Amino acid sequence: MTTAPKRFAIVGSGPMGLMAAMELLKQGHQVDIYERDDRIGGMSASFNFDGLKIERYYHFICKTDHALFELLDSLGLSDRLKWTDTKMGYYYDGKLYKWGTPFALLAFPKLGLISKFRYALHVMVTKGIKDWTALDRVNATAWLRRWLGERGYDVLWRRTFHLKFFEYTDNLSASWIGTRIKRIALSRRSLLSESLGYIEGGSETVLEAMERFILEHGGRIHLKQGIDQVNVDQGRVTGVRVAGEDRACDAVLSTAPIQYVPGMVPALPREFADRIRRIENIPVACVILKLRHALSANFWMNISDPEIEIPGVIEYSNLNPGTGEGEHILYAPFYMPKTHPKWSRSNEQLIDEVVGYLSKINPAFGPDWIVARHCHRYDFAQTICPPGFQAMLPAMKTPVPGFYMADTSYYYPEDRSINESIAVGRTLAAVAAAD
Ligand SMILES: Cc1cc2nc3c(=O)[nH]c(=O)nc-3n(C[C@H](O)[C@H](O)[C@H](O)COP(=O)(O)OP(=O)(O)OC[C@H]3O[C@@H](n4cnc5c(N)ncnc54)[C@H](O)[C@@H]3O)c2cc1C
Repeated sequence: MTTAPKRFAIVGSGPMGLMAAMELLKQGHQVDIYERDDRIGGMSASFNFDGLKIERYYHFICKTDHALFELLDSLGLSDRLKWTDTKMGYYYDGKLYKWGTPFALLAFPKLGLISKFRYALHVMVTKGIKDWTALDRVNATAWLRRWLGERGYDVLWRRTFHLKFFEYTDNLSASWIGTRIKRIALSRRSLLSESLGYIEGGSETVLEAMERFILEHGGRIHLKQGIDQVNVDQGRVTGVRVAGEDRACDAVLSTAPIQYVPGMVPALPREFADRIRRIENIPVACVILKLRHALSANFWMNISDPEIEIPGVIEYSNLNPGTGEGEHILYAPFYMPKTHPKWSRSNEQLIDEVVGYLSKINPAFGPDWIVARHCHRYDFAQTICPPGFQAMLPAMKTPVPGFYMADTSYYYPEDRSINESIAVGRTLAAVAAAD
C-alpha cells in the first residue's frame, strides 16, 4: 500500500475495467465496479448461442499480446492459451484464393510481379517499425498507395477500407493501420505459417478468473447498474448516481466508451468535453452463424467483391476447434456509421444478407447448413483514428479532480484488442492511484 486506501468506483466491466480493479485492489483500495449490461465482459462478453457459450464477437490472440500473457500467468491460466496454424483466404472478384504466405502471394493472379514485390516489401518494413511517431500524422491510404502503387492498393485495400471506414477512409492515421499489419505479420510460427491464439473456453475463461480475483480481494461488481452521473461537489468527485441513488466514493475511473463521458460528467469543462466529442467511432452489427459444415478451411477470409458488402468472414472453428462436433461458428461483421442506411435494417435482414453471400463463396452451401443464427450490435466498436490522433487524445487524468478515464481509443496506435485493454487498464489504475 503506497497511499491511504480510497474508495474507487469503476465504470464498465470489460477487460479494462476488470484489470484496473485488480490493480487497485492489489494496492489495498476499495473498489466497486458498475456495469450497465447484465454480464461482465463488454465487447468480450459471451452469450448462450443455442447451447454453446461463445463470444458475441470473434477474438483471436497474437504472439505479441504480452500484457495478456502476463495476466494469464498471474491467474494460473497460461496452459489454457492455445495456438493454431491458421489459414487465410482472399475472396476476390468471385473466386476464393489462398492468402497469407509467400507462395499464396506468388500464385495470386490479380497482381503483377512488381506489385507483389512492393506488397511483400511493405509488410517486411512495417513489421520492423518500432517508433510510430513519424507515421502518426501520415494519411494511411496515401501511405499504402505510395508503397503498393494504385493497382496494388485497389486490389488489396480499397474495398476493405470502404467497408470498414466509409467516409473516414481517406482520413486515417498510417501508424494505426501499420500496427495492425505488424501485429498480424509477427504472429507466425514460420515464414510459411501464420499462428494465432485462442483461450480454451474463450475470453470467458479470463473474465471469470478476473472476476474471481476481484471478489476474493473484497471488490464488488454491480451488474445492470449503469452509472448515470458522476457527482462533483466543490470541484471534486464525491460519488456516483446509479438508478436515482447517490453512492459515495473518492474517485471514479471510467472505462466506458468515452463518447458517454460528457453526458455522464456534466462538471467537465466545456472545452475538455468538446475534445472528447471530436473523437469518432464506428458501430458494428456482427452476424454469428452456427453451421453444420465449414464454409472453407480458413480462419480469416478477406473479401473484395462488388456483390458482397462485408469486408470478410471469420470462421472461428478453424481457429478454436473446441466449439463442438458438427458446429462451425462463422462471424460476419458489418461495420457502419449509424448514418448508413443499412444500420436501420433489422438484425434478421442483416443475417439474411450474410446467408445470401455464403453460397457465392462456397456453392455447396445451402440454408440447411444453418443450425442457429444471431446478430449483436455494439455502438462504439471501433474508434476512428485520423492523422495526428495522438495529440487529439485527452489526458486520462481529467480537469475534474478524482475523475479519470480511458477507453479503446487509448490503445492508439495499437488496434483494438483485449491485450491493449489490459495494458491500458493497468496504466489507468496507476495514474489514478498515484494522484
Ligand atoms: C467485432 C469485434 C471483433 C473483435 N476482435 C478482437 C480480436 O480478434 N482480438 C482481440 O483481442 N480483441 C478483439 N476485439 C476487441 C475487444 O473485444 C475489446 O478491445 C475489449 O473487449 C474492450 O474492452 P474494454 O473493457 O476496454 O471496453 P468495452 O468492451 O467497451 O467495455 C466497456 C463496458 O462499459 C460498460 N458501460 C458503458 N457505459 C456504462 C455506464 N454508464 N455505466 C456502467 N457501465 C457502462 C459497457 O456495458 C461495457 O461493458 C473485437 C471487438 C469487436 C467489437
